[in-house]
Amino acid sequence: MGYDSDNIFAKILRGEIPSEKLYEDDETYVFMDIMPRADGHCLVIPKSPARNMLDASDAQLAACLRTVRRMGHAVMAAFDAGGVTVQQFNEAPGGQEVFHLHYHVLPRHDGVKLRPPGKMEDMDVLRANADKIRAALAELD
Ligand code: AMP
Repeated sequence: MGYDSDNIFAKILRGEIPSEKLYEDDETYVFMDIMPRADGHCLVIPKSPARNMLDASDAQLAACLRTVRRMGHAVMAAFDAGGVTVQQFNEAPGGQEVFHLHYHVLPRHDGVKLRPPGKMEDMDVLRANADKIRAALAELD
């Protein structure tokens, strides 16, 4: 199975559809998930094409994981969270819906379950949560 450059994250990378951007470096891009399962739920993707973990290069995986760790620190600080969950799905039976490699980064609080998937967030709330994460990122390093 190959890479389809018409997938929605490829369109986000090309600027063809909007995203609430949080961070980018030469190899990765981070934006808010529009159907967050926790406040601060964001997605880390490589800028170069990869369908999922199974066809990604070692360099793509290493770059993504570096950014995932950075975002883990940022979302924990932004939401005063006690932990962070990272999810990554491969192929439809593995739960993948968008076929450009991505890592979900979710701040977690003791005893608080993830919300069910599929509910679109209010855009003002999404932007306010993004502002908190961008502020936390600026405090890192
Ligand atoms: P999955 O492929 O199962 O890991 O899920 C894809 C994720 O992408 C889901 O959490 C969706 O809420 C999210 N998503 C889908 N379209 C967009 C979009 N345009 N902007 C941000 N997140 C999206």
